[in-house]
Amino acid sequence: MDNCALCSSKKELEISHILPKFLFRYQKKSSPTGNIRTVNNPNRIVQDGLKLPFLCGECEDIFSKWETSFANKIFYPYESGKVSNFIYDESLSKFLASLSYRCLKLSQKENQLDHIEPKLTKYVELALDNLQSYLLGRHEHPKEQRQHLVLLGPTTFPGGYIKGVKESDFNIYTTRAIEYDVISTDNEAFVYIKFLKFLVLCPIKIISNKGWRSSRISHSGGSIEPKLYELNDYVLDRILSGARLLPDNRGLLSSKQRDLIEKNLSKQDPDKLINSPLGKVMINNKN
Ligand SMILES: [Zn+2]
Repeated sequence: MDNCALCSSKKELEISHILPKFLFRYQKKSSPTGNIRTVNNPNRIVQDGLKLPFLCGECEDIFSKWETSFANKIFYPYESGKVSNFIYDESLSKFLASLSYRCLKLSQKENQLDHIEPKLTKYVELALDNLQSYLLGRHEHPKEQRQHLVLLGPTTFPGGYIKGVKESDFNIYTTRAIEYDVISTDNEAFVYIKFLKFLVLCPIKIISNKGWRSSRISHSGGSIEPKLYELNDYVLDRILSGARLLPDNRGLLSSKQRDLIEKNLSKQDPDKLINSPLGKVMINNKN
């Protein structure tokens, strides 16, 4: 028996996914080679994402209600390319807050927050408290931990490069990668969660709203569509450093793995390859 990471009660914990399972299932299903490679080690095929005993059954149920709503109303329609503007209700902010909470709580539990500027560490505790009260319905509003969502899609850059990153790598990262991070500058900190064509940001401590307005999600509901977002340089820099890992890692693929990928690709029905988002990114980049 351990303490649930959300409600803190001592209960039998379920094996929870830190990021929801449907994201990995979708990434795998829509990949031309059928398997997922992590950004850090492309030779290891990750089928299912990180899971560990984290939440009790009741808290899992609370999260899964918001998850299902996001998956059906926004995630699948946007990934399929069929819908790009959405009217959302209060469950979107709850779902995003549940992701931010899980990623920040796990990073804290696993002592992965040493890089946070010491004067900002007290805000981690405060952010976790605010998110917890909001998720458990004790507060109607997440306070300073308002959620932010960016809808991503393939982008073109003059000359095919942005800050030394190839446009195709940038697009593969922004439309396909799944990862999370807790980022600290000298005086600001935030949670960064990137999955397929979505980027979620949750401030831990920010000193100005500059660069944080256009991606803000209202806790009560509203509408969203892809637009020209005004994002801070430190967010773009993090996206670029994620994209930069791609070509490096491609060089690390063992020849055995490369043969396997090529064999899988040649076995694919060409129509399926074109219909997969990765296929589309590749095709777009050839134009
Ligand atoms: Zn619980």
